[in-house]
Amino acid sequence: MRKQIVAGNWKMNNGLIQTESLIADLKRQTKVSNAEVMIAPTYTNLWHAFQSTKQTEIEVIAQNMHYAENGAYTGEISAGMLKSIGIQTVILGHSERRAYFNETDEALAKKVDAALAHDMRVIFCFGEELSDRKAGNEQAVVESQIKNALFHLNDAAYKDIILAYEPVWAIGTGETATPEQAQEMHAFIRKTLAQKYGNETAESVSILYGGSVKPNNAREIFSKPDVDGGLIGGASLKAEDFFAIVNSF
Ligand code: PEP
Repeated sequence: MRKQIVAGNWKMNNGLIQTESLIADLKRQTKVSNAEVMIAPTYTNLWHAFQSTKQTEIEVIAQNMHYAENGAYTGEISAGMLKSIGIQTVILGHSERRAYFNETDEALAKKVDAALAHDMRVIFCFGEELSDRKAGNEQAVVESQIKNALFHLNDAAYKDIILAYEPVWAIGTGETATPEQAQEMHAFIRKTLAQKYGNETAESVSILYGGSVKPNNAREIFSKPDVDGGLIGGASLKAEDFFAIVNSF
């Protein structure tokens, strides 16, 4: 049985006071689904958020990390540093990291290796641009992103890999992939994994959808057989909306 997961990516939002207040709001919500719940605050609030959610079912995760262990990488943070404060899961390859910070598949492969070497779980993000979809290239783009960054792994590594399909044209735009478009791509991703690693591994990997998931569309998207949850941006910044999504399973 694959894990259902709803992860909130707070991006570069919320200082310490807002983080405290949003976590207090989240703690007041009731979870009625079986989904694992994760939130990704910004680096400066990770330790505080980790401490404040210790007695809850909310896992605090990181939005990014560097592949090196330590050294002269000003402004960066390593897997070991995240682990040292209790963080077990990291988002890698978000389209904003790819677009604004030039993260390549090759650099992402190194980041994935570094996270796994520290026994961390990875939420690996990928997805096509609007121009790719218009040209009918969305599956080829997604396939190459997955192959370039992940296909050097052995199948045992996939116990710590969560995939997040996030079509770039749907992120923060209010435009969502239809549930059918999401299902079609998720089934394709699972088939791609199965061709390389076999059905058992492919069936065990959770594949999240991300891109303008809101309380009013989550249920339909999550009802699709290959959609195992969501990576949520904007709607994760309001506790009621986020938990309405968590409870959409
Ligand atoms: C995201 O940034 O991963 C995302 C899905 O954002 P939004 O939900 O705001 O589209």
